[in-house]
Amino acid sequence: EQEINCISDHDFGRNDYVPNNAAKIAKEMIGAALQKHIKSVNPSECEAGEEDAFFVADIGEVYRQHMRWKKNLPRVTPHYAIKCNPDPVVLQLLATLGAGFDCASKAEIEQVLKIGVDPSRIIYAQPCKTKSYLRYTAKQNVRQMTFDNTDELYKVKELCPEAELYLRILTDDSASLCRLSNKFGASMENTQELLELAKELDLNIAGVAFHVGSGATDTAAFVKAVTDARDVFDRAKALGFAPHTLDVGGGFVSETFEETADVLNMALEAHMPSSIRIIAEPGRYYTSSAFTLACNVIARRTVEDRETGEKSYMLYLNDGVYGNFSSIIFDHQHPIPQILSTSRKQNNYNYDLSSSTESLTDSGYTSASEDTNSTDPSIGGKAITYSIWGPTCDGIDCISEQWKSAQTVDVGDWLYFEDMGAYTKCSATKFNGFTDKHETIYVSSEAGASAVLGF
Ligand code: PLP
Repeated sequence: EQEINCISDHDFGRNDYVPNNAAKIAKEMIGAALQKHIKSVNPSECEAGEEDAFFVADIGEVYRQHMRWKKNLPRVTPHYAIKCNPDPVVLQLLATLGAGFDCASKAEIEQVLKIGVDPSRIIYAQPCKTKSYLRYTAKQNVRQMTFDNTDELYKVKELCPEAELYLRILTDDSASLCRLSNKFGASMENTQELLELAKELDLNIAGVAFHVGSGATDTAAFVKAVTDARDVFDRAKALGFAPHTLDVGGGFVSETFEETADVLNMALEAHMPSSIRIIAEPGRYYTSSAFTLACNVIARRTVEDRETGEKSYMLYLNDGVYGNFSSIIFDHQHPIPQILSTSRKQNNYNYDLSSSTESLTDSGYTSASEDTNSTDPSIGGKAITYSIWGPTCDGIDCISEQWKSAQTVDVGDWLYFEDMGAYTKCSATKFNGFTDKHETIYVSSEAGASAVLGF
């Protein structure tokens, strides 16, 4: 185990951060890394697996998200939810930047402790814990943990009586991407009974926790949850506890982050005195946009409509919903395919290094190809309709039911997908014998991140 030296706010340096410039620099670096890798592999003659799907991770993007967090939620200490993407370089960066960690299991706690993070920076944010993990947690001096039911209180009393307990309350998560309140969270009616039992068992109620659902879009859910939390704080105090921390959970999404932060700040200001420490458990906010996935087209099937005679094409990639596209099933995502490179010179699109928004999805009609190759699906100048599939034998393994492109995509070509950093590789399986371990190539589009990691 090593010591982590946290860098201070002062060391952040780059207060001249301009998002648009950063995006352009990042795009160029990611593009260069993608191209370099695919040029090093020739799917027509490489060894088995050399053409496997791979990630390019821009660690500078994680750094920018951290700066953005600190700017917009200065009162809230993020505890990165490592379930979202336990990438070791991301963890190292966030540990060094001073973030805490939300862990859900023994393995996650172990991974964070191994990089030298102090146990006081970890919250075991799983209201229903495995007994042996709880024994491990107690031994490792990880004290902060959540609970939401009476059985768990008896378990904690038996195995970790020193715990700093956060009572997780139910929220309205109806506007979130992945609902959690169907499984976790004590209803407000039950909180009094739980507090009283904790008192009877001589346990320590250190605060309140909530989670408004992963991928939350309704800021009102945060306001209601903070108001409810305040009520629980007051009742805990009335019973003689001294709660000191509010954990506002995860759910933050990049697209609405500033708006959510504004609303949350106002609610905290109104209901939580400055003596209360505020922490959060963001996951996808940190990593979603930092990871790009490149996949190889391993097969193509031509499908002809019997009535119209129109042709469409099924593309089979070497990654699918049992792999890194597990986010389609578990996280309700719709990854957007883009062409990284085709082997055909005339249509060779190649990743556009100059644009940060370029996408060929639904790109409509294109001029007729000059290529006279009769196997070219784009002959006639129409947009080509594809469906995109994973490599397993299961019919559910579909990445996109319909994708229109002006470009011809053939076996051996590469597609790429942006925003693949959250709930992707962490839930990949080896189903059908395909690998669940894909290479990650790291780039850093921020000098600050490079300095921290020695890139
Ligand atoms: N904390 C807990 C307890 C969770 O269950 C989750 C996600 O499921 C998170 C934090 C992270 O949520 P998000 O990635 O939406 O920020």
